[in-house]
Amino acid sequence: MDGDRAAGRPSGRDTGPRRLAIDERGIANLARQVRSPNRDARPPGAEVTLVVVHGISLPPGTFGGAGIEQLFTNRLDPSAHPYYATIADLRVSAHFLIRRDGALVQFVPCGERAWHAGASSWRGCGRCNDFSVGVELEGSDDVRYTAPQYTMLARLVKALGRRYPIADVAGHSDIAPGRKTDPGPAFDWARLGRMLTPRVP
Ligand SMILES: [Zn+2]
Repeated sequence: MDGDRAAGRPSGRDTGPRRLAIDERGIANLARQVRSPNRDARPPGAEVTLVVVHGISLPPGTFGGAGIEQLFTNRLDPSAHPYYATIADLRVSAHFLIRRDGALVQFVPCGERAWHAGASSWRGCGRCNDFSVGVELEGSDDVRYTAPQYTMLARLVKALGRRYPIADVAGHSDIAPGRKTDPGPAFDWARLGRMLTPRVP
């Protein structure tokens, strides 16, 4: 049984009133909106062609807390955890976060640039923030991601593909090799690929 069917949603379909859609500004209709100040304009003429998959948990290895949203909104309390003291001054964001239960949170409209990739390169083009949408999966490099996360990620990639000329989905580790490891070996790229490929009836 694959993740789509486990979640009760046949692969390749996203229809009806709960259809995930991205509007002209790049806002997802089904996402809870939490605006991050860590964003700016994409360069003139930049097309969104890449989806970057990340993994994050705060504190590392702990799921379900408020740390990720606090980090992306510059409200992380450096005294709340020893690790937070090392990252509280970062000014970072992603367009989306997919929680362990598949819930979708949006921090930056896709028409704007989020600050998720850092020093990076993809197919010879640097500064991947310029032309990518960043999607954080709540997780850890070595902990299996959940079926609802794969389902929501596949729905999101398809919805982005209906709005933008998306050509690739890559991991943070693919665009910043040697510097970043997320989403890690726990992320099943073949599983995502099956969910994105229309099945021949
Ligand atoms: Zn990352």
